[in-house]
Amino acid sequence: MKISIIGTGYIGSVTGACFAEMGHHVIFVGRDQKKLDLIRAGKSPIFEPGLDQLLVKNKKMIDTTTDLPDAVRRTDLTFICVGTPPKKDGSSDLSQVQEVSKTIGRSLSHSDSHYHTIVTKSTVLPGTIEETIVPILERESKRKADIDFGIASNPEFLKEGTAVEDFFHTDRVVIGVRDPATRGVLETLYAPLNVPIFTTSIRTAEMIKFTSNAFLATKISFANEIGNLCKASGIDSYEVFAGVGLDTRINPKFFRSGLGFGGSCFPKDVNALISHARSKGIDPIILNSVIDTNEDQPRRMIALLKKHLDPRGHTIGVLGLAFKPDTDDIRESRAIPVIRLLLQAGAKVKAYDPEAMGHFRELIPDISYEALASEVLDSDAVLIVTEWKEFESLDYRGKLVIDGRRIEKVRNEAAVYEGMCW
Ligand code: NAD
Repeated sequence: MKISIIGTGYIGSVTGACFAEMGHHVIFVGRDQKKLDLIRAGKSPIFEPGLDQLLVKNKKMIDTTTDLPDAVRRTDLTFICVGTPPKKDGSSDLSQVQEVSKTIGRSLSHSDSHYHTIVTKSTVLPGTIEETIVPILERESKRKADIDFGIASNPEFLKEGTAVEDFFHTDRVVIGVRDPATRGVLETLYAPLNVPIFTTSIRTAEMIKFTSNAFLATKISFANEIGNLCKASGIDSYEVFAGVGLDTRINPKFFRSGLGFGGSCFPKDVNALISHARSKGIDPIILNSVIDTNEDQPRRMIALLKKHLDPRGHTIGVLGLAFKPDTDDIRESRAIPVIRLLLQAGAKVKAYDPEAMGHFRELIPDISYEALASEVLDSDAVLIVTEWKEFESLDYRGKLVIDGRRIEKVRNEAAVYEGMCW
């Protein structure tokens, strides 16, 4: 198939490269020529394991442009992969989605345009495609959805850091459609993955994405609340969850209690769902607590540090700035509140991350960034914020460490060790 991918961020880059690997012709549409030049040269615009290799290997299947109408004309399918960032009140900012929908609509208005299918991969609340995107497309194209062009929801479930692997070995593909032709196109596209394809209505597909993320975030906050209780009772929450997870109704994943969740999805999507629930007159009590518990964990980390040392005037080392290992993404990283709390408490902060220091420096310039993890260990206390693999081989002997992510070597080696939930 010939596929346009709009947006060359985390989702667009990975989705496009993976479709090219599956043998499709892919046109990446972006606004930043530098990013497009990187893709053309076979280099990923983001740090994501395995992505460079896919871009190099499939160079012949990949084209790039800033001209969205041209890409729409030259392809059969367009995937919208632009951002849906949070507004101040927690609701989703749909301006990027609205803008590209307008341009796609105008491109479809040309009399020579062939049948085209528009697929929304960006995470949008239930009703957004049918109530916002389709009306824009119909108004701008002066054509009818499902008759003159196809429309679908295809939410994405991959995880940064293992995105390529997740794309090819996903637990399921979810497709939301209204007409059999579009259903056929998408089921054919994904059939070679040989994974379960769950086809449903557009609104349900949109809701599946939010429900999945809200449930996973709830599982983490639940693990953290139980973890805090375990810590206060002298119990190791990791042993508790090892026992709990053996129950097949429960499953052992996402029970790593500690500093909490960050990233571009869980906080944003849970807050968007909260705001959606309120707009429907529902008070989402559980979802509110999921956020509250998550916000509280960084404060708990600093409280644990203060048990041993007043941060004022001391140098505190922070290991890890990315919201999780194997990514350079710092959106909503727990390192942000942790470092802000340290600075408020009068500490000097030294930080290290293998991939995320460039982005972090733009956000918080006034701390010191070290070239090596070992240099961060030369501090009065060390906080472990992200569980990068390389932190497992450092020498923690003689150190005071507060561990937000449970690194076994630190646990066995540090002179003074505080685990967050154990
Ligand atoms: P991102 O911010 O990394 O990328 C979005 C890209 O869209 C940016 O590069 C931006 O420049 C581009 N863009 C915006 N307007 C454009 C336009 N008019 N023309 C061309 N490009 C344009 O965001 P992301 O992390 O890739 O997420 C994209 C969507 O996927 C979001 O809705 C997000 O919630 C969802 N999602 C993300 C993940 C994840 O792990 N990152 C997982 C599942 C779903």
